[in-house]
Amino acid sequence: MDDQRQRAVHSVNIGWRDLPLAARLQDACRLPVTLGHDVRAGALAENTIGAARGSRNTLFVPVGTGVSAAVICDGRLLHADGYVGELGHVVVEPGGRQCACGSRGCLETVASAAAIQEGYAARCGRPIDGSAEVADRVSRGDADARTVWDRAVAALATALATATTMLAPELIVIGGGLAEAGELLLRPLRARLDEALTFQRRPLLVRAALGDRSGCLGAGLSAWEATGRPAVSEEDGVRTS
Ligand SMILES: [Zn+2]
Repeated sequence: MDDQRQRAVHSVNIGWRDLPLAARLQDACRLPVTLGHDVRAGALAENTIGAARGSRNTLFVPVGTGVSAAVICDGRLLHADGYVGELGHVVVEPGGRQCACGSRGCLETVASAAAIQEGYAARCGRPIDGSAEVADRVSRGDADARTVWDRAVAALATALATATTMLAPELIVIGGGLAEAGELLLRPLRARLDEALTFQRRPLLVRAALGDRSGCLGAGLSAWEATGRPAVSEEDGVRTS
């Protein structure tokens, strides 16, 4: 998604290639349209009315079916023509499992909700409902669930340490389905990240405040900004939540 050119550059699922989507929608709806990437929209929402209010250097990391990131650096949401923030494809286990992107051992193959679910099912030889069930089993003392969980946490910490070294966030906001596990995820992740860092600025690691509404709320904020009206304030944020 190229937010700045308002084009859908590449969609694997739908087959779009460099589609001027905003212009097409605008013609069809006869209304102004603004287009954004879901994760960057989520970051905008968390930064304006969510867990990252007031932070000028934020890494927003939704961990769900996939893993991605949005970067706010010096108060600006980075785009890089739509390519910035593909944290899910940082290699954390060289030569590891094949990733949908064509590489091997990407973060997404170890620490996405889908990978955790598949990892546990493969280990135990039977299907499981989702990563939430693995989390539930971790809290009930299941050793296999703990092994899969710890591996995912270690992989996330490795990728976040790399991102911290490069981008120096003050705040890392973990969102997506996996963040629903709360401190079961965040406590060991903080400890692992802390171990991995030496000289770097140590970021606070918190859970997202807006859950799966962050993308929609961010899209709403973008539309609001596109109208040229005054920016949404913290007080406005209380009303929308
Ligand atoms: Zn990959």
